[in-house]
Amino acid sequence: MKIIGSVKELRQAIKAEKLQAKSVGFVPTMGFLHEGHLSLVRAAKENNDIVVVSIFVNPTQFGENEDLDAYPRDLEGDQAKLVGEGVDILFYPTVEEMYPQGYSTYVDVEGDMTGVLCGSSRPGHFRGVATVVTKLFNMVAPDRAYFGQKDAQQVSVIERMVKDLNMDLEIVPCPIHREADGLAMSSRNTYLSEKERKDALVLSASLFEAKDKILAGETSAEKIISGIVDKISTVDYAIIDYVEIVDALSLERIDTLKGTILIALAVKVGKPRLIDNLRLEV
Ligand code: AMP
Repeated sequence: MKIIGSVKELRQAIKAEKLQAKSVGFVPTMGFLHEGHLSLVRAAKENNDIVVVSIFVNPTQFGENEDLDAYPRDLEGDQAKLVGEGVDILFYPTVEEMYPQGYSTYVDVEGDMTGVLCGSSRPGHFRGVATVVTKLFNMVAPDRAYFGQKDAQQVSVIERMVKDLNMDLEIVPCPIHREADGLAMSSRNTYLSEKERKDALVLSASLFEAKDKILAGETSAEKIISGIVDKISTVDYAIIDYVEIVDALSLERIDTLKGTILIALAVKVGKPRLIDNLRLEV
């Protein structure tokens, strides 16, 4: 596996592969890799000649009071995992390489899509995401890029951006990878104490319970949301950021459950703010 820190070197390496008509699969990450990330890498391996993974903790997508400095990092461990998966190139740039002195250009996906869910509680977050992903796409020039449904709103925003800006690549959404007990895998799970780790199960459990109710015929978003809120509230120190039900395509809030819906939540369990969601055909 080549480990590359400079954009120039990355371009040269990818150009050489493309000259041999090789297709490029790309998995952008912030590192501290777990099985969720690796499931994206495996999907990329399956359908492309070479796989590029980036590890970059992107400062522009973190708010002022968020965990940028504390974000977990383990380059050595990540490298070993990526070598194990047969990744061809690891792009690991510095902040200065990505945002050199004088950097001034940002990509904003406007409108309702970024005004709900994480967009409303993390102002500027998706501007940072859209900007860094655009830059990475320009550097890697992938045929396909792989994103996890764990960050469902991110997938929608990136798909919108790719369409709006006529970017020439395919976005491949991949299912949420969960621990055996249901907790959605996340680099931030490492912040959880043993007790919080157990209590955090209430997030996925409340979504699975909601699914059962909907499959049994419940069509009121309000009732489903209040069921989820009640269940999460059994953990007295959990702080709910949002529990929302939206149309999975437009991300518009809905009152009556029909079509493809997305039930999404963000909850602070001790130190970390965790997100989870469930997509469902009603
Ligand atoms: P991150 O390093 O958290 O920025 O995540 C990098 C990519 O991995 C994003 O596309 C995430 O949606 C995806 N990802 C993170 N956790 C999971 C998971 N549990 N299952 C599937 N994909 C995930």
